Amino acid sequence: MIPELLDGTSARILATILAGVLGLVIGSFLNVVIWRVPRGESVVSPSSACPRCGHTLSWWENVPLISWVALRARCRACRLPINLRYPLVELATGVLFALVLWHFGVTFTALAFAYLGAVAIALALIDLDVHRLPDSIVLPSYIVVPVLLGAQTLIDAHAGSSELWPLWRALIGAASLFAFYFVAAIVYPGGMGLGDVKLAGLLGFALSWLGWGPLIIGAFSAFLLGGVFSGVLLLTGRASRKSGIPFGPWMLAGAMVGVMWGRALWSSYLQIFT
Ligand SMILES: [Zn+2]
Repeated sequence: MIPELLDGTSARILATILAGVLGLVIGSFLNVVIWRVPRGESVVSPSSACPRCGHTLSWWENVPLISWVALRARCRACRLPINLRYPLVELATGVLFALVLWHFGVTFTALAFAYLGAVAIALALIDLDVHRLPDSIVLPSYIVVPVLLGAQTLIDAHAGSSELWPLWRALIGAASLFAFYFVAAIVYPGGMGLGDVKLAGLLGFALSWLGWGPLIIGAFSAFLLGGVFSGVLLLTGRASRKSGIPFGPWMLAGAMVGVMWGRALWSSYLQIFT
Protein backbone atom coordinates (compact mmCIF):
# COMPACT_ATOMS: atom_id res chain seq x y z
CA MET A 1 0.00 0.00 0.00
CA ILE A 2 1.33 3.41 -0.96
CA PRO A 3 1.49 5.60 2.12
CA GLU A 4 -0.42 8.84 2.02
CA LEU A 5 2.48 11.31 1.69
CA LEU A 6 0.45 14.49 1.74
CA ASP A 7 -2.81 15.29 3.45
CA GLY A 8 -5.30 17.62 1.75
CA THR A 9 -3.97 20.84 3.24
CA SER A 10 -0.26 20.22 2.54
CA ALA A 11 -1.10 19.13 -1.02
CA ARG A 12 -3.00 22.36 -1.50
CA ILE A 13 -0.16 24.46 -0.04
CA LEU A 14 2.36 22.66 -2.28
CA ALA A 15 0.17 23.17 -5.36
CA THR A 16 -0.21 26.86 -4.48
CA ILE A 17 3.58 27.30 -4.22
CA LEU A 18 4.08 25.52 -7.56
CA ALA A 19 1.42 27.74 -9.15
CA GLY A 20 3.24 30.79 -7.78
CA VAL A 21 6.56 29.67 -9.30
CA LEU A 22 4.85 28.94 -12.63
CA GLY A 23 3.31 32.43 -12.40
CA LEU A 24 6.78 34.00 -12.05
CA VAL A 25 7.91 32.25 -15.25
CA ILE A 26 4.71 33.20 -17.12
CA GLY A 27 5.14 36.76 -15.82
CA SER A 28 8.60 36.86 -17.40
CA PHE A 29 6.98 35.85 -20.72
CA LEU A 30 4.26 38.50 -20.24
CA ASN A 31 7.00 41.15 -20.12
CA VAL A 32 8.00 40.02 -23.62
CA VAL A 33 4.34 40.08 -24.75
CA ILE A 34 3.75 43.58 -23.30
CA TRP A 35 6.84 44.94 -25.07
CA ARG A 36 6.59 43.16 -28.43
CA VAL A 37 2.89 42.65 -29.28
CA PRO A 38 2.11 46.40 -29.67
CA ARG A 39 5.20 46.65 -31.91
CA GLY A 40 4.02 43.75 -34.07
CA GLU A 41 7.09 41.65 -33.18
CA SER A 42 7.26 37.89 -32.59
CA VAL A 43 7.01 36.81 -28.95
CA VAL A 44 9.06 33.64 -29.64
CA SER A 45 12.21 34.91 -31.29
CA PRO A 46 14.71 36.51 -31.00
CA SER A 47 15.56 35.84 -27.36
CA SER A 48 15.17 38.60 -24.78
CA ALA A 49 17.51 41.57 -24.99
CA CYS A 50 18.10 44.81 -23.10
CA PRO A 51 15.66 47.35 -24.64
CA ARG A 52 18.30 50.10 -24.30
CA CYS A 53 21.51 48.57 -25.69
CA GLY A 54 20.31 45.37 -27.37
CA HIS A 55 22.54 43.11 -25.25
CA THR A 56 21.11 39.56 -25.53
CA LEU A 57 20.30 38.14 -22.10
CA SER A 58 21.85 34.83 -21.12
CA TRP A 59 19.63 32.41 -19.19
CA TRP A 60 20.94 33.49 -15.80
CA GLU A 61 20.14 37.14 -16.59
CA ASN A 62 16.56 36.09 -17.37
CA VAL A 63 15.49 34.26 -14.19
CA PRO A 64 12.30 35.91 -12.85
CA LEU A 65 12.89 38.27 -9.90
CA ILE A 66 16.22 36.65 -8.94
CA SER A 67 18.16 38.08 -11.89
CA TRP A 68 16.77 41.55 -11.28
CA VAL A 69 18.03 41.40 -7.68
CA ALA A 70 21.35 39.72 -8.62
CA LEU A 71 22.04 42.30 -11.34
CA ARG A 72 21.10 45.05 -8.85
CA ALA A 73 18.46 46.33 -11.31
CA ARG A 74 21.04 47.22 -13.97
CA CYS A 75 21.85 45.80 -17.41
CA ARG A 76 25.15 43.88 -17.29
CA ALA A 77 26.30 45.41 -20.59
CA CYS A 78 25.22 49.07 -20.53
CA ARG A 79 24.73 49.45 -16.76
CA LEU A 80 21.52 51.41 -17.37
CA PRO A 81 18.69 50.69 -14.90
CA ILE A 82 16.21 47.88 -15.68
CA ASN A 83 12.64 49.13 -15.39
CA LEU A 84 11.05 48.18 -12.06
CA ARG A 85 8.02 47.10 -14.09
CA TYR A 86 9.71 43.83 -15.15
CA PRO A 87 10.08 42.29 -11.69
CA LEU A 88 6.71 43.75 -10.63
CA VAL A 89 4.91 42.02 -13.54
CA GLU A 90 6.64 38.74 -12.62
CA LEU A 91 5.73 39.12 -8.95
CA ALA A 92 2.12 40.11 -9.71
CA THR A 93 1.65 37.10 -12.01
CA GLY A 94 3.17 34.77 -9.41
CA VAL A 95 0.89 36.09 -6.65
CA LEU A 96 -2.14 35.95 -8.96
CA PHE A 97 -1.51 32.32 -9.97
CA ALA A 98 -1.05 31.33 -6.32
CA LEU A 99 -4.30 33.11 -5.33
CA VAL A 100 -6.24 31.49 -8.19
CA LEU A 101 -5.03 28.01 -7.27
CA TRP A 102 -5.76 28.52 -3.58
CA HIS A 103 -9.23 29.81 -4.47
CA PHE A 104 -10.26 27.18 -7.06
CA GLY A 105 -8.03 24.18 -6.25
CA VAL A 106 -6.51 21.97 -8.97
CA THR A 107 -9.34 22.38 -11.52
CA PHE A 108 -9.97 23.55 -15.07
CA THR A 109 -11.57 26.59 -13.42
CA ALA A 110 -8.19 27.51 -11.91
CA LEU A 111 -6.51 27.00 -15.29
CA ALA A 112 -9.09 29.22 -17.00
CA PHE A 113 -8.75 32.02 -14.46
CA ALA A 114 -4.95 31.80 -14.30
CA TYR A 115 -4.95 32.15 -18.10
CA LEU A 116 -7.42 35.03 -17.88
CA GLY A 117 -5.31 36.67 -15.15
CA ALA A 118 -2.18 36.49 -17.30
CA VAL A 119 -4.12 37.96 -20.24
CA ALA A 120 -5.45 40.67 -17.93
CA ILE A 121 -1.97 41.74 -16.77
CA ALA A 122 -0.70 41.92 -20.37
CA LEU A 123 -3.77 43.78 -21.64
CA ALA A 124 -3.86 46.28 -18.76
CA LEU A 125 -0.24 47.34 -19.30
CA ILE A 126 -0.51 47.41 -23.12
CA ASP A 127 -3.65 49.55 -22.80
CA LEU A 128 -1.82 51.94 -20.45
CA ASP A 129 1.16 52.09 -22.84
CA VAL A 130 -0.52 52.44 -26.23
CA HIS A 131 -4.30 52.75 -25.51
CA ARG A 132 -5.08 49.54 -27.38
CA LEU A 133 -6.35 46.07 -26.49
CA PRO A 134 -4.79 43.95 -29.27
CA ASP A 135 -7.11 41.48 -31.06
CA SER A 136 -4.20 39.02 -31.16
CA ILE A 137 -4.60 38.60 -27.38
CA VAL A 138 -8.35 39.15 -26.88
CA LEU A 139 -9.78 37.05 -29.74
CA PRO A 140 -7.92 33.72 -29.03
CA SER A 141 -9.20 34.04 -25.45
CA TYR A 142 -12.74 33.70 -26.84
CA ILE A 143 -11.76 30.08 -27.56
CA VAL A 144 -9.40 29.26 -24.67
CA VAL A 145 -11.65 30.41 -21.82
CA PRO A 146 -14.90 28.74 -23.03
CA VAL A 147 -13.02 25.47 -23.75
CA LEU A 148 -11.49 25.36 -20.24
CA LEU A 149 -14.68 26.40 -18.45
CA GLY A 150 -16.68 24.07 -20.71
CA ALA A 151 -14.45 21.16 -19.65
CA GLN A 152 -15.05 22.02 -15.99
CA THR A 153 -18.81 22.27 -16.59
CA LEU A 154 -18.85 18.77 -18.10
CA ILE A 155 -16.86 17.38 -15.16
CA ASP A 156 -19.21 19.04 -12.66
CA ALA A 157 -22.30 17.89 -14.60
CA HIS A 158 -20.94 14.35 -14.64
CA ALA A 159 -20.42 14.51 -10.89
CA GLY A 160 -24.08 15.41 -10.64
CA SER A 161 -23.54 18.73 -8.85
CA SER A 162 -24.92 20.78 -11.71
CA GLU A 163 -26.14 20.65 -15.28
CA LEU A 164 -24.94 22.69 -18.24
CA TRP A 165 -26.62 25.83 -16.92
CA PRO A 166 -23.27 27.62 -16.06
CA LEU A 167 -22.36 27.55 -19.77
CA TRP A 168 -25.72 29.02 -20.84
CA ARG A 169 -25.46 31.62 -18.11
CA ALA A 170 -21.94 32.45 -19.36
CA LEU A 171 -23.24 32.95 -22.91
CA ILE A 172 -26.10 35.18 -21.71
CA GLY A 173 -23.64 37.18 -19.55
CA ALA A 174 -21.16 37.52 -22.41
CA ALA A 175 -23.86 38.81 -24.78
CA SER A 176 -25.24 41.20 -22.13
CA LEU A 177 -21.93 42.79 -21.18
CA PHE A 178 -20.89 42.96 -24.87
CA ALA A 179 -24.18 44.71 -25.74
CA PHE A 180 -23.87 47.09 -22.77
CA TYR A 181 -20.37 48.21 -23.80
CA PHE A 182 -21.39 48.34 -27.46
CA VAL A 183 -24.17 50.82 -26.62
CA ALA A 184 -21.78 52.76 -24.35
CA ALA A 185 -19.21 52.98 -27.15
CA ILE A 186 -21.85 54.39 -29.53
CA VAL A 187 -23.30 56.85 -27.01
CA TYR A 188 -19.93 57.94 -25.60
CA PRO A 189 -17.28 57.27 -28.27
CA GLY A 190 -14.58 59.24 -26.41
CA GLY A 191 -14.78 56.96 -23.39
CA MET A 192 -15.03 53.47 -24.87
CA GLY A 193 -13.46 51.84 -27.88
CA LEU A 194 -14.27 48.69 -29.83
CA GLY A 195 -11.39 47.02 -27.96
CA ASP A 196 -13.29 47.57 -24.70
CA VAL A 197 -16.45 46.08 -26.29
CA LYS A 198 -14.63 42.90 -27.36
CA LEU A 199 -12.99 42.57 -23.93
CA ALA A 200 -16.42 43.01 -22.28
CA GLY A 201 -17.78 39.89 -24.04
CA LEU A 202 -14.85 37.80 -22.78
CA LEU A 203 -15.09 39.09 -19.21
CA GLY A 204 -18.88 38.72 -19.27
CA PHE A 205 -18.48 35.04 -20.18
CA ALA A 206 -15.97 34.24 -17.42
CA LEU A 207 -17.76 36.24 -14.71
CA SER A 208 -21.24 34.86 -15.40
CA TRP A 209 -19.89 31.32 -15.62
CA LEU A 210 -19.14 31.80 -11.90
CA GLY A 211 -22.57 33.34 -11.25
CA TRP A 212 -24.70 36.47 -11.67
CA GLY A 213 -23.17 37.96 -8.51
CA PRO A 214 -19.62 37.96 -9.93
CA LEU A 215 -20.94 39.47 -13.21
CA ILE A 216 -22.85 42.30 -11.52
CA ILE A 217 -20.11 43.06 -8.96
CA GLY A 218 -17.37 42.76 -11.63
CA ALA A 219 -19.11 45.13 -14.04
CA PHE A 220 -20.07 47.61 -11.34
CA SER A 221 -16.55 47.60 -9.79
CA ALA A 222 -15.03 48.54 -13.17
CA PHE A 223 -17.07 51.75 -13.27
CA LEU A 224 -16.56 52.44 -9.58
CA LEU A 225 -12.74 52.02 -9.77
CA GLY A 226 -12.44 53.74 -13.15
CA GLY A 227 -14.67 56.62 -12.06
CA VAL A 228 -12.87 57.21 -8.77
CA PHE A 229 -9.34 57.08 -10.26
CA SER A 230 -10.24 59.17 -13.32
CA GLY A 231 -11.82 61.72 -10.99
CA VAL A 232 -8.65 61.85 -8.87
CA LEU A 233 -6.45 62.23 -11.99
CA LEU A 234 -8.65 65.01 -13.38
CA LEU A 235 -8.88 66.84 -10.05
CA THR A 236 -5.13 66.70 -9.41
CA GLY A 237 -4.46 67.86 -12.98
CA ARG A 238 -2.50 64.70 -13.85
CA ALA A 239 -4.84 64.07 -16.77
CA SER A 240 -7.16 66.21 -18.84
CA ARG A 241 -10.49 65.22 -20.34
CA LYS A 242 -8.78 65.12 -23.70
CA SER A 243 -5.88 62.88 -22.68
CA GLY A 244 -8.27 59.90 -22.76
CA ILE A 245 -7.74 57.61 -19.77
CA PRO A 246 -7.89 53.99 -20.98
CA PHE A 247 -10.80 52.03 -19.50
CA GLY A 248 -9.45 48.51 -20.14
CA PRO A 249 -7.36 48.34 -16.95
CA TRP A 250 -10.45 49.22 -14.86
CA MET A 251 -12.58 46.60 -16.62
CA LEU A 252 -9.90 44.03 -15.78
CA ALA A 253 -9.42 45.20 -12.19
CA GLY A 254 -13.21 45.22 -11.70
CA ALA A 255 -13.46 41.70 -13.13
CA MET A 256 -10.85 40.54 -10.63
CA VAL A 257 -12.96 41.94 -7.78
CA GLY A 258 -15.94 40.08 -9.29
CA VAL A 259 -14.04 36.77 -9.52
CA MET A 260 -12.60 36.93 -6.00
CA TRP A 261 -15.41 38.53 -4.00
CA GLY A 262 -18.42 38.80 -6.36
CA ARG A 263 -20.43 35.99 -4.83
CA ALA A 264 -19.87 37.13 -1.23
CA LEU A 265 -20.48 40.83 -1.95
CA TRP A 266 -23.62 40.14 -3.98
CA SER A 267 -25.20 37.86 -1.36
CA SER A 268 -24.48 40.34 1.44
CA TYR A 269 -25.98 43.09 -0.74
CA LEU A 270 -29.13 41.00 -1.28
CA GLN A 271 -29.40 40.30 2.46
CA ILE A 272 -29.77 44.02 3.19
CA PHE A 273 -33.06 43.97 1.27
CA THR A 274 -34.52 40.74 2.63
ZN1 LIG B 1 21.74 47.23 -21.76
